[in-house]
Formats: sequence, structure tokens, C-alpha cells
Amino acid sequence: MIVEPTAATIAEAAKLLREGGLVAFPTETVYGLGGDATNERAVAAIFEAKGRPQFNPLISHVLDAGEARRYVQWNQTADKLARRFWPGPLTLVLPRAPNSPIALLATAGLDTAAVRAPSHAVAQGLIRAVGRPIAAPSANRSGAVSPTRAEHVAESLGDRVTLVLDGGPCRVGLESTVLDLTTDRPIVLRPGGATREAIEGVIGPVALSDALPTGDAALKSPGQLKSHYAPGRPVRLNATSVSADEGLLAFGPHPPAGAMLTCNLSPSSDLGEAAANLFAQLRALDRPGIGRIAVMPIPERGLGLAINDRLRRAAADDGAGSGG
Ligand code: AMP
Ligand code: MG
Repeated sequence: MIVEPTAATIAEAAKLLREGGLVAFPTETVYGLGGDATNERAVAAIFEAKGRPQFNPLISHVLDAGEARRYVQWNQTADKLARRFWPGPLTLVLPRAPNSPIALLATAGLDTAAVRAPSHAVAQGLIRAVGRPIAAPSANRSGAVSPTRAEHVAESLGDRVTLVLDGGPCRVGLESTVLDLTTDRPIVLRPGGATREAIEGVIGPVALSDALPTGDAALKSPGQLKSHYAPGRPVRLNATSVSADEGLLAFGPHPPAGAMLTCNLSPSSDLGEAAANLFAQLRALDRPGIGRIAVMPIPERGLGLAINDRLRRAAADDGAGSGG
């Protein structure tokens, strides 16, 4: 059931969560499928509802740095980053705190945990009402396009989620940046809503996990599989021309003509606007009559790093399911 977020529906959602149920809720990045992060069974139910083939670690959503300190071993770098980016689209990976109440399944048996403070008022209201951290991956079946509107959640999960809080379209539209702070030089495990440039402005150089040897990267970030965010149709990248059976995901003021249907991520070449439109437009193009989705080149800077990461995974066809 999709409901307006009010004091009453948020209280109802919080009750469901405390009883071990699942609730979908808006964040500024994408809609999350939330469960009590301290409850192993609730966390297991998240994996089941998503059809997630592996137990990839989940992000625990908290109100602020003060709360995060109870769950992870906080440090100075985390503090600097939280001051600049929290609440917002930056997830920090830190060692689990001794006696951390976060469910072992939520961290997939790792001795680290991922925490983030979302800025969306509904997410904050829900965390406050539950009084516990909320584990929440994107609210879609595993491997599919992430939801940026309440209707997307209902389309993807159907009866698997009883309550969806409708916060309208997500402002950022891309998942959070996941930054590993457990190594000497921090590593971006997943590019996302907080740009590398902005992070480096606060803490200096960071590494990109894509640049690590494959085995290392896989160990560090078990959820980052090659095929992910995949629409039902094949995706062709770096398209500079288009054919009549294709849907075009355009970028910038001069898209090539001739596509069956064109959606423009940002006619003015604004990467923030493109990020916010990405998943909804991929869905709009993923429909009968369209043989393939062609995507124009997106600049590899700022939010373009995360947009291109999602598009490469949407285009990858490794036959396997995926992480989330
Ligand atoms: P999702 O839940 O779909 O937003 O994905 C969460 C991402 O965070 C996955 O790609 C995970 O690999 C990553 N992640 C979560 N917890 C950890 C952790 N403890 N160590 C490394 N990566 C993590
Ligand atoms: Mg996901």
C-alpha cells in the first residue's frame, strides 16, 4: 500500500519495523527497503524480498554521527566527512564497534559496517520514530533498475512490501557514494551522489576500487557485481547515432534524430539533473516495441562518474543476477 507520509503513517511504519516487518521509504538517493538493522530476521527478510542471490552487506541508516559512533569505530576522517556531507549521499565503511548491535547478516559476516545519515525528512522521521538503525538497500528486485518514485517500488516488489511511504521523486536519484575508511588511503567502493572531487576537497586523495586488482575490489565490496541496474532490454552505450527500433537516452542539447522514443537526461547538460532523471527514464524506455536502449556519452566528471558506473552495469550482460 502506498501512503502519504504523515505523523500517523510514519508511526505505523515505525511499529511495523520494530516488529520485524519491512517498510519502503524515500531517501534523497533512491527509495529504500527498510528493516530493523539490529534484527537478524528482519534483515534476512530484506534479502528474501529483493531476491538478492548473495548476502551482500547492507547500509545502516542513522540520524547523525553521534548515533553512528555506537555502531562503528568512528575516527577523525569520518568526522570531517560527516561534518561536510551528512546528512546526505555519502556512506562510510568503518570497523564494527565492539558490541555493535548491527545484525551480523547486515554486514554479511564482515568486521566492518556501512553507515549513512540520509537527508530526506521522511527517512529521518522514520529513523527517529523507530529509535534503531534501519538497514535499507534499494527497494527493487535484485538486479533491476533502482526506484526513484513510490510507484517504482510497487511495480518491482508488489506484495513483498506491505507499506510504501510516498515522498515523491528522489532529489539525487542515484545511490550514495560508498567510501571505505578502513585502509590507509580511503577507497571509493561505489561512486554515487557525493562526488569524488568534493570528497577529495575535504580529505585529500582517495582511490577508486575500479582501479584495484579485481580480486581485491570484490573482497572489499561484495555487492558490486558487473551486471546490475539492468532494464529488460539490451543497452548500447556511447551512441552518437540511433536507429528506428531504439529508444534513446539522450544527454545535452543536440540528440541525434530517428529514435522510436527519446528521453533526455538533461537538455542543458546538467549532471545533477541527469542523475535525478536516470532511473526513471531507463524505466520509461524499457517498454514493448523498443528493441534496444541507446545511451549518449556522459562526461566522466562529477556525478558523471556515478551515472556512467550505473550505465555500464545496466549494459553489462554477464548472465548472472546481481547484488541489489
Ligand atoms: P545497496 O544496499 O544496494 O545500496 O548496496 C550497498 C553497497 O554498500 C553494496 O555495494 C555493498 O557492497 C556496500 N557495502 C555495504 N557494507 C559494506 C561493508 N561493510 N564493506 C564494504 N562494502 C559495503
Ligand atoms: Mg540496489
